[in-house]
Amino acid sequence: MSQVLIKESSTLTQEEAGKTERELGEAEANAREILVKMWEHQQRFRCHVDGCTNTSAGPKLEQFLNHWLWDWKQPTELVLCDRCIRWTCIAHLSSDLCQDCRYQLHAEYNLATNR
Ligand SMILES: [Zn+2]
Ligand SMILES: [Zn+2]
Repeated sequence: MSQVLIKESSTLTQEEAGKTERELGEAEANAREILVKMWEHQQRFRCHVDGCTNTSAGPKLEQFLNHWLWDWKQPTELVLCDRCIRWTCIAHLSSDLCQDCRYQLHAEYNLATNR
């Protein structure tokens, strides 16, 4: 259908104007799509520690052949806790363990040594 429309356009300038408009529209749509994707990504990838509002800084950049692609399935600045396997921000992670697990392990250790 778009090909028919282009053929029917009387002047080049009209065609170009239409093209620019379409391109602008597409760029805007793409920008909006990225914002939505980013929002969904950050809803999905957030630090699980209570009261923490840190989310993924954005999708991970992966090299695919000669291209750099965003991998929306992988967060950045969030790491999986080794013990509870939940996303944890860098501020709440130490020695691959989240704050919750470190407290828990510490409490268990205290219980064990107090006996
Ligand atoms: Zn944990
Ligand atoms: Zn956190």
